[in-house]
Amino acid sequence: MILSPFEYHAPTTIDEALRLLSDYGDDSRILAGGQSLIPLLKLNLVEVGHIVDIKHIPELSSIGLEADPEGREMLRVGALTRHSDLERSEIVRKAVPLLAETAAGIGHQMVRNRGTIGGSLAHSDPSADLCTASIALDAAINTVSAGGKKRTVKAGEFFEGPLSNCLSADELIESVTFPSTGPGSGHSIKKFTLGTGDFPIVVVCALATVRDGRLAAIAISIGGVGGTPLRLKDAEQALLSAASPETPDIGTITGKAASSLVIEDDPRVSAPYKRKLAATLLRRSVAEAIGKAGGIS
Ligand SMILES: Cc1cc2nc3c(=O)[nH]c(=O)nc-3n(C[C@H](O)[C@H](O)[C@H](O)COP(=O)(O)OP(=O)(O)OC[C@H]3O[C@@H](n4cnc5c(N)ncnc54)[C@H](O)[C@@H]3O)c2cc1C
Repeated sequence: MILSPFEYHAPTTIDEALRLLSDYGDDSRILAGGQSLIPLLKLNLVEVGHIVDIKHIPELSSIGLEADPEGREMLRVGALTRHSDLERSEIVRKAVPLLAETAAGIGHQMVRNRGTIGGSLAHSDPSADLCTASIALDAAINTVSAGGKKRTVKAGEFFEGPLSNCLSADELIESVTFPSTGPGSGHSIKKFTLGTGDFPIVVVCALATVRDGRLAAIAISIGGVGGTPLRLKDAEQALLSAASPETPDIGTITGKAASSLVIEDDPRVSAPYKRKLAATLLRRSVAEAIGKAGGIS
């Protein structure tokens, strides 16, 4: 494939990148790891006059812990943090183990060595592992646009449809923050792919907290079944309500959640098959997260 011609820019500061995005607007695209954008350019599915390569901006590659205004520990990762950095970082593995495990399961090693968290979220594939995990983890996406205007968008409000989100053309993801997972919590990511390293057909993430043998909190997200990854609040509520005084019937609740999903046929698998996958992965993921959190007595 022959790429359409474009001008390549390699800013070394965020301000410089924002100036370029503001000058060229819709005729520009940010390049991070290139794992999604380069194939789209090669297929001429994206044609722009200016590519703004942000890989040379060191401020975008940090991993660290901080406290939010209420004093809760938060993990902040720069937009350029690669999947392999998330996978290997001791800080990430301790603070938000679901994030490290999710990154470790993405594609092949080469993809993980290049792909970035900012690129994955901005690409907004509805079945992407990190997009789905970010919703269960209640991540906040921190952006900056022309003139240094900053905003924070919750992952649950960020995605708008397949490959679509609320970012404007001159807006850059600077970092992503995740609440640290506290003691007594367990996580799980389960997915179905057609081949090793392939994009998931369906992916499910669950994060549970158990206190004194009771389910105290649960977050469940699913990717690959709609235009965006979804948080399954009704199922979460049903599990929490059933947790006291009885042990929740995980299979019944997650089965009901799978039945209520609006699923369209996929060129790779039929909608009924996808629903079965969703039911199985939801049941396994929720059970594993609760089990890892210590189990319900
Ligand atoms: C063979 C292969 C297998 C894969 N398998 C999986 C998989 O199993 N699961 C999975 O989830 N993903 C998978 N991926 C996708 C991979 O995770 C990519 O890394 C990711 O989708 C894009 O990240 P990137 O850094 O390469 O972004 P790029 O390709 O550089 O950019 C993607 C989009 O994001 C925009 N962008 C990039 N950074 C920013 C930023 N900081 N702010 C605003 N916009 C930005 C770009 O303009 C572009 O529109 C796979 C990719 C390949 C090639």
